[in-house]
Amino acid sequence: MVKYWNIKEELLSEIKKHGGWVNCHAHIDRAYTITRQNFYQSQALRSEKWTLNDELRRRSTVDQIYDRMAQAVERMLEQGVTVLGSFIDVDYLTKDKAIKAAIKIREKYKDQITIKYLMQSSNGLFNQEKEARQWFELAADFVDIIGGLVKADVDREPEHFDILLSTAKAKGKMLHVHVDELNLPEERETELLAHKTIEHGMQGKVVAIHGISLNARPKTEREAIYTLMKKAGMMVISCPVSWLNERRSEELSPIHNPITPVDELLPHQIPVGIGTDNIADIWMPWNDGDMWMDLRVLLEAARIYDIDQLVQIATTNGRKILGVN
Ligand SMILES: [Zn+2]
Repeated sequence: MVKYWNIKEELLSEIKKHGGWVNCHAHIDRAYTITRQNFYQSQALRSEKWTLNDELRRRSTVDQIYDRMAQAVERMLEQGVTVLGSFIDVDYLTKDKAIKAAIKIREKYKDQITIKYLMQSSNGLFNQEKEARQWFELAADFVDIIGGLVKADVDREPEHFDILLSTAKAKGKMLHVHVDELNLPEERETELLAHKTIEHGMQGKVVAIHGISLNARPKTEREAIYTLMKKAGMMVISCPVSWLNERRSEELSPIHNPITPVDELLPHQIPVGIGTDNIADIWMPWNDGDMWMDLRVLLEAARIYDIDQLVQIATTNGRKILGVN
């Protein structure tokens, strides 16, 4: 038999040579929370799932959160992941339980993997009843990188970004924000984040997570946004598998797939990394945190076949995005 060129093997070996996989985005504190009982919730809209998780947040003990995080970290280690960025819930229901678990996890795995924590403020920054701001402030001191979810503050996006950016700046930390997740042409979050980054003098320190809706804008608008993002020194995390299940819509827009437009970002020298996002929870019950699957989906969806570029996405870009040298 003629030995064929095993291109996957070559790519995986290059990833190893370049320091191993970097998983830029996950929510490991709620990994493996899918059960036979809550499985039906995975069919709910993404917007509904935030509150569906409330009971879990309230009920989970530090030990349970620790076990879930440990299982996710083990899953990363078995694949050769050397750096992981994960959001953890810090809110009026979870309180500081995930922080306590996160400290223990970092200590246990300190010789095997670099973990960067970010906070998930699922109730936004303005909900006084839910003490949203207090928990955000508490989390901001603990995390390595400030984390944001702009959809939690619909109609107050500029203020949301102002708070995230000024907090990150004051604490000398980077910022990662979930943006443009609805795959709709009217979403403007990535663009606004770029403008705000420049306004706050945070160029080179801000990362957009997802940015799916960029695909839904006409080419001239997309190009203008990429130029602006480059000016803001923005970086991007794509979680390809996490968006494959994006729902059909009757909106009209340029034909596209629901994967971050990485093929267009890279020529603008905007660094892109990958993340597994949710693992085995009500958001993504079938996701087993497989880095290769994410890279494979990305390379096909964005038609990036160049080995060097793929290695950068899987390794060096990820380290840049997580502020790891
Ligand atoms: Zn996320």
